[in-house]
Amino acid sequence: MQHDKKKSDALLSLLTQGLLAYSEKETARQLGDRSLYIGMSDIGKGMECLRSAVASKIGVGSKSMADTISALPLTEIAQILGRQIILQRGHWQETGIENALTATGVKLIPQLEISIYVNGIPIKAHLDFTIVWGGQKPAVRIIELKSNEHIPDILYASYEAQLYGQAGLLKACWNKPCFSVPDEYNGEGVTGVTFPQAIHQMFGVELPALPGGVDIEAWVLSISMSTVKPFGPYKPDQSMLTACLRIAKNIWIAKEEILAGNKKLNDLNYCYGFHPLCDWCDFNENCPKFQGKDITDLDPQCGVELNELAKLKEQRNALNKKITAAENRIRKTYHLANQTNRVTWLTADDFRFKVSTVAGRKTLDREVLAKEISAVLGDEDMAQSILKRSEKVGKPFERLFVSKINKIASAAA
Ligand code: SF4
Repeated sequence: MQHDKKKSDALLSLLTQGLLAYSEKETARQLGDRSLYIGMSDIGKGMECLRSAVASKIGVGSKSMADTISALPLTEIAQILGRQIILQRGHWQETGIENALTATGVKLIPQLEISIYVNGIPIKAHLDFTIVWGGQKPAVRIIELKSNEHIPDILYASYEAQLYGQAGLLKACWNKPCFSVPDEYNGEGVTGVTFPQAIHQMFGVELPALPGGVDIEAWVLSISMSTVKPFGPYKPDQSMLTACLRIAKNIWIAKEEILAGNKKLNDLNYCYGFHPLCDWCDFNENCPKFQGKDITDLDPQCGVELNELAKLKEQRNALNKKITAAENRIRKTYHLANQTNRVTWLTADDFRFKVSTVAGRKTLDREVLAKEISAVLGDEDMAQSILKRSEKVGKPFERLFVSKINKIASAAA
């Protein structure tokens, strides 16, 4: 079969355009005009980087990105496609998770909206799933889905802020007419009611008029292609809610000042140091964090080299995935063929292979050691000082940081 690169590129471009168009349409349908309020994801983003959160609000690049796709080079399109697949996978998984949870018979509301004004600032929370139980032990569980390429070991601060904001708002607004559920989830929909009213209208379940005795928890379900990991519980916490509302205020005020022409985007604070958010940030092209010198004219070859390096890294990642998959298959084959578990070599073609258990890496547990020394000496400061004196610092070394400039915002601006 002959590979027609031109046609295959056109197909990828069409798919990317479709994903972006669908995402823009769905976001507008589910979340409305996001420039008119501060959402929980804005607060999460604002906790990490005010500049990025405000840029999203003022609509830098608010023109449809989908319309500009065909004008971009294929490398850019491939990068956008990769990001969209990960981002939108979360929405596709959402339907499956909703069906699974509903099949258990729990009383579940998808996309519950909490809408309030705090000191004149419009704030909205959209809760992916809210599950309720009435009766003697009333309980509410908020579940937020996050699609991740790799499941993180600990939850990102931005996700935690979202969860604390959602749980805190649910409790704080419990008996206020701030709750809505879109029509499509409930036939007639529910608008501007208290939480107990919403639950009564939707399920006929009675909840207490006040949230005091209700067990409220929020959880994140982090989902990769093959694993799901829950993070939580996050309980309503007044100090965390206050912190979230302060961030909402900072974002709103900064947005207003920029729109009034009193400030520029680059006057705002941004996250310093290495931050994973920057690679994903749609506004990293002109971010002062990366201000530097363009050497394209001075050394045109350098751009070629950087592109080549990016391609090589992609190939390495793809190769690593293939190697891991092949090793896993061979491991399974070994266990199937060697069911007696007597460690032995197996042979196939020109190779022999076996799977054996290797002792784990030994490391010193600094905390335990400090306690032991401290117990012997009877002096905790002395123990810490001995440990400090025993530390060895390696020679400084050079590290190359290469970060992709996301031109999509300026392309769509
Ligand atoms: S590139 Fe990084 S520092 Fe700059 S706005 Fe985006 S997230 Fe913030």
